[in-house]
Amino acid sequence: MPERRVIVAGGGIGGLVTALALHQRGIEAVVLEQSTRLEAVGAGIQISPNACHVLDRLGLLDALRSHAFEPRSIDITDGRRDRLLISVPLTPVAAPLRSALPERSSR
Ligand SMILES: Cc1cc2nc3c(=O)[nH]c(=O)nc-3n(C[C@H](O)[C@H](O)[C@H](O)COP(=O)(O)OP(=O)(O)OC[C@H]3O[C@@H](n4cnc5c(N)ncnc54)[C@H](O)[C@@H]3O)c2cc1C
Repeated sequence: MPERRVIVAGGGIGGLVTALALHQRGIEAVVLEQSTRLEAVGAGIQISPNACHVLDRLGLLDALRSHAFEPRSIDITDGRRDRLLISVPLTPVAAPLRSALPERSSR
């Protein structure tokens, strides 16, 4: 069987996750990054539920939780007046929606 070896161009989140996923499936992957150092850039990153599922499957979610917090809402503010315009709760919506429906209208 031919040896499988993958070169991943770029050590951003995409490249690192790809390399890790390949390694976990027994495929050697080498990340080639043009920058001289891999380091965090920016203030932080909001990770979507889909991305959390991927990180969980890779066994990273618990380790990341200690560096993270879960926002309770997305607030849009009028910066000049420091006034809250709208607040969108980030609580799970399925249960409240279902319970708002009349009985027997959802099965
Ligand atoms: C200000 C800002 C805020 C953001 N906030 C969020 C957020 O909250 N949540 C979210 O999900 N996303 C956010 N994003 C988007 C997110 O950062 C990107 O989608 C994500 O980083 C893309 O990852 P990537 O690995 O595909 O690309 P990059 O992170 O761009 O990584 C590509 C890497 O490849 C390297 N490279 C390029 N060409 C070569 C080459 N020829 N050879 C070797 N190396 C090479 C580059 O140096 C780089 O390190 C934000 C983006 C910005 C700009």
